[in-house]
Amino acid sequence: MAKNIPALYGSLVFNDKVMRNKLPKDMYKALRKTIENGTHLELDVANSVAVAMKEWAVENGATHYTHWFQPMTGFTAEKHDSFITPSGDGEVIMDFSGKELIKGEPDASSFPSGGLRATFEARGYTAWDPTSPAFIKDGTLYIPTAFCSYSGEALDKKTPLLRSMETLSTEAVRMLKLLGNDTVTGVSTTIGPEQEYFLVDKELYKKRKDLVFCGRTLFGAPAPKGQEMEDHYFGTLKPRVSAYMHDLDEELWKLGIPAKTKHNEVAPAQHELAPIFDTANVAVDHNQLTMEVMKKVADKHGLVCLLHEKPFEGINGSGKHNNWSLVTNDGVNLLNPGTTPAQNIQFLVFLMAVIKAVDDYADLMRVSACGAGNDHRLGGNEAPPAIVSIFLGDELSAVLQSIENDTYFGKQEKIQMNIGATVLPHFTKDNTDRNRTSPFAFTGNKFEFRMLGSSASVANPNMVLNTAVAEALSQFYKELEGTAPEDMEHAVHELIKRAIRKHKKVIFNGNGYSEEWVAEAEKRGLYNLASTPEALPRFIADKNVELFTKHHIFTKEEIYSRYEILLENYVKTIGIESRTLQEMLTKDFLPAVSSYTGTVARDTASRKAFLPSLSTEKEEKLVTELTAAYETLTGKLEVLKQMTREVDGIEDMQKAADACHEKVLPLMEELRVCASDAEAKIPDEILGYPTYDQLLFSL
Ligand code: ADP
Ligand code: MG
Repeated sequence: MAKNIPALYGSLVFNDKVMRNKLPKDMYKALRKTIENGTHLELDVANSVAVAMKEWAVENGATHYTHWFQPMTGFTAEKHDSFITPSGDGEVIMDFSGKELIKGEPDASSFPSGGLRATFEARGYTAWDPTSPAFIKDGTLYIPTAFCSYSGEALDKKTPLLRSMETLSTEAVRMLKLLGNDTVTGVSTTIGPEQEYFLVDKELYKKRKDLVFCGRTLFGAPAPKGQEMEDHYFGTLKPRVSAYMHDLDEELWKLGIPAKTKHNEVAPAQHELAPIFDTANVAVDHNQLTMEVMKKVADKHGLVCLLHEKPFEGINGSGKHNNWSLVTNDGVNLLNPGTTPAQNIQFLVFLMAVIKAVDDYADLMRVSACGAGNDHRLGGNEAPPAIVSIFLGDELSAVLQSIENDTYFGKQEKIQMNIGATVLPHFTKDNTDRNRTSPFAFTGNKFEFRMLGSSASVANPNMVLNTAVAEALSQFYKELEGTAPEDMEHAVHELIKRAIRKHKKVIFNGNGYSEEWVAEAEKRGLYNLASTPEALPRFIADKNVELFTKHHIFTKEEIYSRYEILLENYVKTIGIESRTLQEMLTKDFLPAVSSYTGTVARDTASRKAFLPSLSTEKEEKLVTELTAAYETLTGKLEVLKQMTREVDGIEDMQKAADACHEKVLPLMEELRVCASDAEAKIPDEILGYPTYDQLLFSL
């Protein structure tokens, strides 16, 4: 039966329509003002909103509410309180106050704080973010919040993002004013995160400890077929997958998440979902929810959704493309080349600000995409390199080049600069989106940051990007400040000329996957931060601390604490992977090798006894190889155990992370290669777990 999708869409969201219906007019107006302009919310308004929210939530089956937040675990957190309040006569009423709506006080002591806890109070509080709508999930009203310590340090990913959106808005509005645009009073960042994922059968998944504990396979012989036929990308959806995607869309739509596009990805069992873009903080919340709902719906379908960046060796891993742009409160996309000269000046200034931002803070951009999982992708032949560069496309590069060389309008017209509509080509997506190897590509009216891992929150990358662009705009402002309106065009032209000379090194339109680019990038002096432990120290580099503190995104303490948390997370992840590998080898794989080697040896001996003339060369070779593999694996396994214990004992987290990267991971890789090789020689039914063939081709 056909469903009424418009009615279904947002049916579990306390959205504008519900607010308008439920709130007294003056209260609704006051709330809108807070949402649109960020003005302070009075308690009587909060009380009124709380009553309306509770009424609506209870009507829709909710019994509890929760302040939903995004601590540094990378996941979301929630503690549920019921609406029930004793009414004095042994009965209860359903109650919810403005105070409960705007502030919660979860115990912060068990969330990662990276040392902030030692110096500050353990208590934390959550503060309602009225710009991201509340919603109902599993009988609970979810209120999106930011999470801080009592002394005001951010303990989550949302607070810095909100701060960065604010600072970018301020700088952008100031710049627009200077350029003669008096109508804009706010600029927000828009984000459309394309999400990749794998689906595997739940029963098979449960039999693999590596998938259960690490989200990725730690070894495994490749399936006879991988992605070489290029038949999966955009291929027909298999019935189980299609049913899953259908259900997923509906669940997301109910939550007001505008899931738009779904398709098969390059690797077998790999898929993608893209929503329609939204304001940054809402998009971040929605992406977190999407990842969660993906897993939940998979479970209902007897599937498991893998969000790890590299679940399988030998085929593509999963990333997340972060489409990013800037939109004014009167609806103009600042990265859309306009149709009037004034719009084109705006466009060029903001475009140049992004280029400058990415060049000046390429290291931070890289940091924002780091993590143990994503290290398996970046620089591989499937994902952007670890080097941050910008793809602009030929047309736009030519425009900037001609500005740089004063050839834009022919030499004679040099004085009369006119960055006008007639000359600025309109960049269609087709012209700009061909190169998929760039980590940061201009795609017509937005930039697409493609370095991100599939499992990561998109909060950090956007926080970095927003802040870096705010800084670039602030520097440009200083250069243009005081220019008379009639000289502005010329001043902007000169500014862009200076800026492009300085920052063109970050622009690269060629093949980002090639070896030549690595060499060329080094010559240009660009960062190539190949791994998380190599990238993370850039987080606390002086210039970056200065950036964040200047724009009030982080205090120095907050930066150091986050650096510590990220290192710790990396070290713990590798630790879990190492112990899982040890366990799988010890309990599943090595017994299988031993048993099968024995079987072959015994069978061969008995066949030989029957037929003394039998040539057993092949069997002997197999027994020898498997025995050698067994020896190698047990030997290396002992070293791995020892090494992992040593890392556990290192107190300095940077040193521990370095040891993981330089010693533990290479050894795990050696074990992977050896085990995968041996696995190919052993019948599937002897192994205690499902193989790549089964995992990737069973749906
Ligand atoms: P692809 O990169 O796969 O070719 P699309 O061009 O369709 O895909 O868009 C990818 C994503 O970019 C979508 O989530 C879309 O909503 C988002 N997007 C489009 N315009 C903007 C914008 N102005 N700001 C942010 N995201 C945008
Ligand atoms: Mg894309």
